[in-house]
Amino acid sequence: MKKINLRSPVKLLKGVGEKKFSALESLGITTLGELLYYFPRKYLDRNFTKDVFLKTGEVVTVLAQVVDSYLAHGKKSRLVVNVKTPKGEKISLIFFKGLDYFRKIFYSGAEIVLTGKLEYFKGFQVIHPQVEVLSEKGEENLLHAGRIIPLYSSSEALAKVGLDSRGFRRLIGGVLDLIRDGSLEIPEVLPHDIIQKRNLVERKTALREIHFPDSQQSLEDAKKRLIYEELYFFSLLLEYKKLKREKFKRILWPLAESASAQKVIESLPFSLTEAQIKALETLKELSKTESPMAVLLQGDVGSGKTITALLNALRYIDNQIQVCLLAPTEILAKQHYTTIYNFLGNQPFLGLDLLVGKEKERLKREKLDRLKRGDTMFVVGTHSLLQEEVVFSDLGLVIIDEQHKFGVEQREAIRAKGKNPDILAMTATPIPRTLCLTLYGDLNLITIPTKPANRKPIKTMWLTEEKRSAMYHSMKKYISQGRQAYVIYPLIEESEKLDIQSCIEGYENLKQVFKEFEVGLLHGKMKPEEKDYIMNGFKKNQIQILVTTTVVEVGVDVPNATILVVESADRFGLSQLHQLRGRVGRGDLESHCILMTKGIVSEEAEVRLKAMVEYNDGFKLSEIDLQLRGPGELLGVRQSGLPDFKIADLRTDQSLIELAREDAKGRNLGELEQTEIRERFEEGKILFPN
Ligand code: ADP
Ligand code: MG
Repeated sequence: MKKINLRSPVKLLKGVGEKKFSALESLGITTLGELLYYFPRKYLDRNFTKDVFLKTGEVVTVLAQVVDSYLAHGKKSRLVVNVKTPKGEKISLIFFKGLDYFRKIFYSGAEIVLTGKLEYFKGFQVIHPQVEVLSEKGEENLLHAGRIIPLYSSSEALAKVGLDSRGFRRLIGGVLDLIRDGSLEIPEVLPHDIIQKRNLVERKTALREIHFPDSQQSLEDAKKRLIYEELYFFSLLLEYKKLKREKFKRILWPLAESASAQKVIESLPFSLTEAQIKALETLKELSKTESPMAVLLQGDVGSGKTITALLNALRYIDNQIQVCLLAPTEILAKQHYTTIYNFLGNQPFLGLDLLVGKEKERLKREKLDRLKRGDTMFVVGTHSLLQEEVVFSDLGLVIIDEQHKFGVEQREAIRAKGKNPDILAMTATPIPRTLCLTLYGDLNLITIPTKPANRKPIKTMWLTEEKRSAMYHSMKKYISQGRQAYVIYPLIEESEKLDIQSCIEGYENLKQVFKEFEVGLLHGKMKPEEKDYIMNGFKKNQIQILVTTTVVEVGVDVPNATILVVESADRFGLSQLHQLRGRVGRGDLESHCILMTKGIVSEEAEVRLKAMVEYNDGFKLSEIDLQLRGPGELLGVRQSGLPDFKIADLRTDQSLIELAREDAKGRNLGELEQTEIRERFEEGKILFPN
């Protein structure tokens, strides 16, 4: 047989015609390697039961031969199939359904494997066992019974072309035969020292045992090996990225101290927290390095990241280095602009500007020119900053707020506008520590662990419909005392129209309930001027109740708003609820977050709502969210650059991650160059080296 390898097409396997091929292709399987890395979803123990006749009342798996079969007509027609085991023991199989079908397959002499509960009633019997009829060709027998057998993810469409679990077993069994007879080689890809040190089985063994394990133990060993393999190459990739970044050299050097920053600090109505000061110190240290820094600044909602970022930025600006601040929404960008403008107070010469969405052509041109000439030193903006026409003269620091809202390409696009700029990415969606190390292992992580001391914990309640009028009553009380409230309606893309409609209805209704107050409506489909008008009205407390959607999810800062009502709270994700809750509790006033639901909520929603009531801590909640949704969902696979792991699970494989990361450090990255894995990662595809 001619030599084949893992990259050889699946088409060369027996039984893979056009139909099967395109079905496999739809699963991303075109090569033998990809087929082998299509791992079972779970396993069934179909080992033959020993001493069957001592096992009455238990589920047994037995190899047997059909003796005879007959139809019996009583109250209910049934098919009785008499079989005997290799030891000659007799069992009757009883079927009430599918009589014609079973009659045909149980011809006398047929070899079968049956699995079912053994009972005793005038003899041993099993009612409606699961049966595998073994083909005459003995070689296939042991793919489906007499061992631990794999079950594969399938679907109706796949099953139609013969790709149910059985079909996959046959196909993959075929590949394993090729390995066994030496026509397909499985090269080892992990370094030998690591295999030894971590006590891993060989790749060839692992790939066999993951599909057709000899025992529970060998299955565990295979899994461990393959999980480690994924994590190891993932870690190598992180190392590689780091190395690549370190190749860049800094062109622009910020100052160590900034006179402007000093002025801002002196004029602040509060003093900086320890955590903020420490973060600023760390940022200062990192901006002295040869290579540009890449920092992820994590801090729970309301921990005061904006002022931290601004003070850091002023060290650049004072040295004529441009800074940009990228925000995910127009509302947030405008808010940042105003906040920074106010913080800068009497230092207008620092050249602050705002660049968002639609602007009059002439005005936009002027803004772009100022930026290009370097008259604008600090620009705040949205995605519009990413446009090609936006050109800087000396961009040396890129600040990305709510960085999880941006994709890899967007972050790269803004970076590319600078002269090897420093990156300061900020997030209020705390990422669980382990995940953070895994994902951002190549970044410097700075955490602001505490909030300003004046903050009171937000009281969170989960209420149902019958409490609504009581809730309105207490809202009235707080608003009369001068407080303000958000009422949030869910909005998802799939049902956007309906969602906006219920938001508007809610608004109409609240206008009736709160006649004595001003109620405002804000949603994404409104014109920018209208949005500005409403947002400003709310900031100035001309509007007391803001009825809105998730457009205020991140960043919005109105410290006098202390009440947050979330309608249909069961429709929100946990991180999202926590972000929303961060709209209140931003000053020294006591705040309330009320989660409203109607009717019965799903079990998962209940877990989320209860977690919100119990915990105020974003890190704790993100751990829970990670368990609920998995990292891909939590961070968005594409957003995060997280690969679509085949077998590793960042939730459960934490100890292996740490080992893999340790092993990958200081490794010769040529290893990575030699494999295709890097490209695969970069394409966001599955990972396995050929
Ligand atoms: P986030 O970290 O969520 O982006 P912000 O930067 O919007 O938080 O800060 C939240 C609020 O806290 C703002 O009103 C800000 O002015 C205020 N703030 C920031 N630092 C402090 C501090 N050290 N003491 C008191 N208030 C602060
Ligand atoms: Mg913020």
